[in-house]
Amino acid sequence: MNSTVTTPDAIEADAVIIGAGPVGLFQVFELGLLEIKAHVIDSLGAVGGQCVELYPDKPIYDIPAVPSCTGQELTDNLLKQIEPFDPTFHLGQEVTKVERRADGRFDVETSIGTRFITKTIFIAAGVGSFQARTIKVDGIEEFEGSQLHYKVKDPAIFEGKNLVICGGGDSALDWALNFVGKAESVVLLHRREEFRAAPASVAKMKALCDEYEMQLIIGQATGFEAKDGKLSELKVTGADGVTRRVPLDMLLVFFGLSPKLGPIAEWGLDIERRQLKVMNTEKFETNVPGIFAVGDINTYPGKKKLILSGFHEAALAAFGAAPYIFPDKKIHMQYTTTSPKLHKVLGVETPVFD
Ligand SMILES: Cc1cc2nc3c(=O)[nH]c(=O)nc-3n(C[C@H](O)[C@H](O)[C@H](O)COP(=O)(O)OP(=O)(O)OC[C@H]3O[C@@H](n4cnc5c(N)ncnc54)[C@H](O)[C@@H]3O)c2cc1C
Repeated sequence: MNSTVTTPDAIEADAVIIGAGPVGLFQVFELGLLEIKAHVIDSLGAVGGQCVELYPDKPIYDIPAVPSCTGQELTDNLLKQIEPFDPTFHLGQEVTKVERRADGRFDVETSIGTRFITKTIFIAAGVGSFQARTIKVDGIEEFEGSQLHYKVKDPAIFEGKNLVICGGGDSALDWALNFVGKAESVVLLHRREEFRAAPASVAKMKALCDEYEMQLIIGQATGFEAKDGKLSELKVTGADGVTRRVPLDMLLVFFGLSPKLGPIAEWGLDIERRQLKVMNTEKFETNVPGIFAVGDINTYPGKKKLILSGFHEAALAAFGAAPYIFPDKKIHMQYTTTSPKLHKVLGVETPVFD
C-alpha cells in the first residue's frame, strides 16, 4: 500500500519530509523511485531552502554533472525532476510536533494545525527553522520589508539607491560588490577590520574603496533618523567612540542565520551541537527507528555540509525506510537507464537497446 488517505482529522501518509530545501526535494525523488509518495512540509512560503532564501542568483559549481547553476535554477530543476512523483507540499507551516503512536507510526502536527499520521519521517531541516539575525537598533524594525532587508529577493529594487550594507561575511561582501555600479552609492558597515568573507572578495572590496567606487566604515549602527516616515540616516558609532550619520535609502543586513533547531529539539532525537546524530551512514536513521535525518541537519563522522552529500544520504535513507512501508517486499536497486519498472514510475518510454 503506498497510497495516501485523507481523513477530516489527519492525512495518512507513508512518508513525511520536513524541509523543502534541495535535500528534502531530492528525497521525494529517491522515495518516488521506490514507489513511496511523500508529503513535504516547510515553514517558508517557497521551496528551495538555503539555495532560494540565501543565494538564489549565485552560481553553484559543485553539483555533479552540472558545471554551474544558480540556487534558484537548482531548485527549479529538482522540482522538474520530482514532477512524476507528484508530492504534496504544505508550505508556510512549521512542524511543531512529532510523536510516536502506539501502532508504531508517528503523529505529526504543524503550526497551523495540519496533522499527519505517517509511517516514516525524513528530517531535511537544514539549519532548522532559520531566521536572519536582526540588527539591534531600537525601533528600526518598523522599516523591515520597505527599507530594511535581511535578504535580496529582487535586486532591481536596490538599483539607483544609496545603500548601507552591514556584515563581514560572504553575503555582505558579495552583495556589496554586486551593487557597485548599479546602486547610487554603496557603504559597507562592519564592526571590525577582520572579515569572514572569502579573501578575494575582501581584496576586491578594498580595491574598490581605494578607487572611491564604494566606502567601508568600521563601526556599529547605534541609532537612526527618520524623515516623513522614512528611514533617512543611520547613526554609526566608530571604534573611536565618535557617532557619525550616514544617509541612506536602503539598509541591507547580513549578520547570518540564527541556528535555531526550534521544535525539532523536543522530539526525543539524539542531538550533537544542534545537529541530529544518525546511527550509521548506511541508512541515516536517527536513534528513533522510522525517523531519518538527511542534509545539513544531520551529523556523523566525516560529515560535509554539501548538497551532493545530502543527495547521497537521501538515496540511502529511502532504501533504509522502505521496509517500514513495504515490510514484505524485497527492495532491489535498479538503474533508471535500464529498468522498465523505474521507467513506469518515472512515466518515460523504455528505450530499445541493440
Ligand atoms: C551562501 C551559501 C552558499 C552555498 N554554496 C554551496 C555550494 O556551492 N555547494 C554546496 O554543495 N553547498 C552550498 N551551500 C550549502 C547548501 O546550501 C546546503 O548544504 C543545503 O542548502 C542544505 O540543504 P538542506 O535541504 O539539507 O537544508 P536547507 O537548504 O537548509 O533547507 C531546510 C529547510 O527546512 C525548513 N525547516 C527547518 N525546520 C523546519 C520545521 N520544523 N518545519 C518545517 N520546515 C522546517 C527550512 O525552512 C528550510 O527551507 C551554500 C550555503 C550558503 C549559505
